[in-house]
Amino acid sequence: MKLPDCAVTRIRHLGKGGIRDFADLARSVQDLVDLSVGQPDFDVPSAVKAAAIGAIEGGFNRYTSTGGIPELRDRIARRVIERHSQWTHYNRDGRDGFDVFVTAGVTGGLILAFMSLVESGNEVLMCDPYFGLYQEAVIMCGGTPVFVDTFPSFQITADLIASHLTERTKILLLNSPSNPTGAVIDREELRKIVTLAESRGVLVISDEIYSDFFYDNAANYPSVADFSTQALVFRGFSKSHSMTGWRIGYVYGPASLIRCMEIVQGQAYVCPATSAQAGAMVALDVPVDEHVQNYWRRKDLVISILSKYFEFSPPRGGFYAFVKVPDHLAMDDLTFAHYAISRGVLVVPGRYFSRRQDHFRISFTCPEKRLEIGLKRLHSLARE
Ligand code: PMP
Repeated sequence: MKLPDCAVTRIRHLGKGGIRDFADLARSVQDLVDLSVGQPDFDVPSAVKAAAIGAIEGGFNRYTSTGGIPELRDRIARRVIERHSQWTHYNRDGRDGFDVFVTAGVTGGLILAFMSLVESGNEVLMCDPYFGLYQEAVIMCGGTPVFVDTFPSFQITADLIASHLTERTKILLLNSPSNPTGAVIDREELRKIVTLAESRGVLVISDEIYSDFFYDNAANYPSVADFSTQALVFRGFSKSHSMTGWRIGYVYGPASLIRCMEIVQGQAYVCPATSAQAGAMVALDVPVDEHVQNYWRRKDLVISILSKYFEFSPPRGGFYAFVKVPDHLAMDDLTFAHYAISRGVLVVPGRYFSRRQDHFRISFTCPEKRLEIGLKRLHSLARE
């Protein structure tokens, strides 16, 4: 049957399926080292599990208010106030000040933001390479993604952004540390970017899901919220606490915008899962420094093993590297990824994150020993 013109047909043109569809191709390969998924290898902290189980067993099983458990919202708001000196006026009435609400993952929150904000003809600026959801979600909501090419350094700058702004630009979407490149926007550049966007009436949406994995110094992580109270800032628990399946994240920004998104959330799925919110309340206080240190070591392993035969910009955060397929292999990203599968390593073809087709992404979330085996396999296939 021919589908009517709708969101699904709009994204069909991408014709790629998801990363997980690609990973399924390799399911039957023996002894495969999987460097494809962004799933941390540590377990959910036991205090978080206990809180969720306790909530369920204690009868805390009903809908919560649409924007999340008030106590959880208040605790997140206190964090925001402690971290960012300009964020002082926490307000739930949907008018002035800032508000916080809890979402079904950063994915759920971003969809609500685009549904609330994007209208046909609106342009949404994003880096290329980008996290795949961004492009598809903007198109689903009727907007037009506009890509700012950041190869080969993957550093977005105010000057680059300025050359892509038009009177149709409505949103600038930032992601630092980045999936898939591990690039981090430096503090001074971020200040310039936010100032530029605001002077042109462009809303900044900042996906800071990897903020805990900032290897220079997590306490000094440059956040958009350091420079503006008019941006929407997303954070979550999927990566920091390995809670990908719990579907829980949060967003803070101008109260009027948060109110719109909250209305859409109410219509779309009422509220995030109640038990996951109980877990999140505890997760807020569980430090993740040890995991960050582990990933930092793995990042060094990636650099030391791959640098000889592969070109890439060393990650400064997150847990991915975006690597160029060596020219001498004369392969595009998909052919290379299939070749890598035949040699026992699963990587993701770069086309899932870019309009270019000559890179691949690796994730260094698998245990160190396996990571080392996988990296050495990549090294030897590039040496041939
Ligand atoms: N943003 C980025 C940049 C991501 O890499 C991911 C997960 N891979 C998400 C958002 C989705 O996060 P969540 O599980 O909270 O929906």
